[in-house]
Amino acid sequence: MGSSLRDGLRVPVHRDFDLAEIDPDGSPGLPKIKGSHHKVWGRAQLTVIGADLGIMQEQLFATAKVGDTQQRVVLVLQAMDCGGKDGTVKKVAGTMNPSGLSIVGFGKPTPEELAHDFLWRIRKAVPEPGIIGVFNRSHYEDVLVARVHNLVPSEVWEARYDQINVFEAELAAAGVTLVKVMLHISKNEQAKRLAERLDDPTKYWKYNPGDLDERGFWDDYQAAYAAALSKCSTEVAPWYVVPANRKWYRDWAVASLLRDALTDLHLSYPPPTFDVKVERKRLARA
Ligand code: AMP
Ligand code: MG
Repeated sequence: MGSSLRDGLRVPVHRDFDLAEIDPDGSPGLPKIKGSHHKVWGRAQLTVIGADLGIMQEQLFATAKVGDTQQRVVLVLQAMDCGGKDGTVKKVAGTMNPSGLSIVGFGKPTPEELAHDFLWRIRKAVPEPGIIGVFNRSHYEDVLVARVHNLVPSEVWEARYDQINVFEAELAAAGVTLVKVMLHISKNEQAKRLAERLDDPTKYWKYNPGDLDERGFWDDYQAAYAAALSKCSTEVAPWYVVPANRKWYRDWAVASLLRDALTDLHLSYPPPTFDVKVERKRLARA
């Protein structure tokens, strides 16, 4: 079931992709269950998947600790404002041991970051073997916000798609599995979530007046997303679009994609680096 979800959400490689064809209200890949209790089912399944994630993360961590793997996994989250990146981090990454996680958010580049190539800060954030990384925004901002607002000349952002593909292929060759997920919300859903932030004093801190200005560029952002998804969904690092108007579906789908990626690594607990029988005898005498 997991891999059919993966096939259903994957952006085809080397083909133009129409983001507008994906329904943000959709919930593809759900098994048929009686009644209309999908939300309850989705939340319960997240707990089940979370337990699997926890075990596989520990196996990855343990295997790297004994020096047996270069593998790491990075979940890349991109979305429009209010798209649910933070909620997904909380719900999906929250099922795993914080010691084995590296969660990095990428905001407006600092002067130091701007003095370097756009991939500089991303390279620095790639986790060590054994660690699961989460990128809350990523190098894709440099072909999204940078493109929409002409932060650099068009020749510069146009060249970045290929640069990103080369970079991601290098990562894959170095043992980094990228799980690139776009959380896809509708424009109406964004308005609803912005209103919630204005209506609830405990959410004021999430409200950014600048988000309303960005909302005015909705269509440009959708076009920039479609271009990035089309040009940068590759065999080694495919993109997935997760309909994200429903939070329970979003969390279930992202957790499932991450579980599929970890399952592909065929992880297990490492064998002892010592003689268990000898150690038992020593312990009995100690
Ligand atoms: P938030 O995720 O709400 O903390 O907002 C981060 C902000 O940083 C967003 O407005 C992003 O568009 C912006 N941002 C992230 N990366 C870049 C980048 N490479 N260039 C310009 N702005 C960026
Ligand atoms: Mg924001």
